Amino acid sequence: KGVLVSFEDITHVEAISQMRRDFVANVSHELRTPLTALMGFIETLQGPAKNDPVAQERFLGIMMTEASRMNRLVSDLLSLSQVESEERIRPSLSIDLTLLIGSILRSIGPVAEKARVALVKEAPSDPILVPGDEDQLRQVFTNLIENAIKYGGNDQTVTVKLTQMERDPALRGPGVRVEVCDTGPGIDQVHLPRLTERFYRVDSHRSREMGGTGLGLAIVKHIVNRHRGRLKIDSSPEEGSRFTVILPALD
Ligand code: ADP
Repeated sequence: KGVLVSFEDITHVEAISQMRRDFVANVSHELRTPLTALMGFIETLQGPAKNDPVAQERFLGIMMTEASRMNRLVSDLLSLSQVESEERIRPSLSIDLTLLIGSILRSIGPVAEKARVALVKEAPSDPILVPGDEDQLRQVFTNLIENAIKYGGNDQTVTVKLTQMERDPALRGPGVRVEVCDTGPGIDQVHLPRLTERFYRVDSHRSREMGGTGLGLAIVKHIVNRHRGRLKIDSSPEEGSRFTVILPALD
């Protein structure tokens, strides 16, 4: 008995294995960068800096930064694979987004203050309920708000706005919109379609300097998909960036 495999099937399978190879190559590269730095500093500590306590102190500080970078990368990779494996299971607990956003803003408060960023919440006072996974939704909004602070720059305003929609055009049904807006420099239009790809960054050097792994928005996208929601990104140099998460409302 033969199985008929179409040309489209073959190209699809090939595309998937190519993606897998690219992913492994990317992960290896991302892990190797801090590893190479760590090995270099260990060598220096064993040799030239052996009897120099001032240099030792400084190098150990840098080594800690590099080790933390690897740690963040491994955590983000685990989050991503966890979310991907659950993508077909729709979360069903009822989550109050007003409460959740309030709690996230309180915990991010000190980071914003340090960057002199004003955090503004615009939300109705009543609870806004969606079916969801609380930890994952916390991760979505934390990533978006932290990005707005990081990439929007100092001395700006980050607004988180919640709106209930009786019929959201993107969902063709009742939904909730959470908009995270910054008044930063914005993102060039050419980057927008690729922003949620794993390891895609507008400026790799800047992202690394800020402690980014390049996986934040990929994780956001997968979690939003799992919630049967939509992610919309708008940006302009004059107005800054707006990341909109649209989630189906509780039936
Ligand atoms: P990273 O770990 O690099 O922050 P993300 O997946 O969270 O990775 O974001 C991908 C890239 O999108 C970032 O490197 C940055 O270039 C860009 N980006 C994300 N959010 C914003 C924003 N609010 N303003 C400008 N650029 C942004």
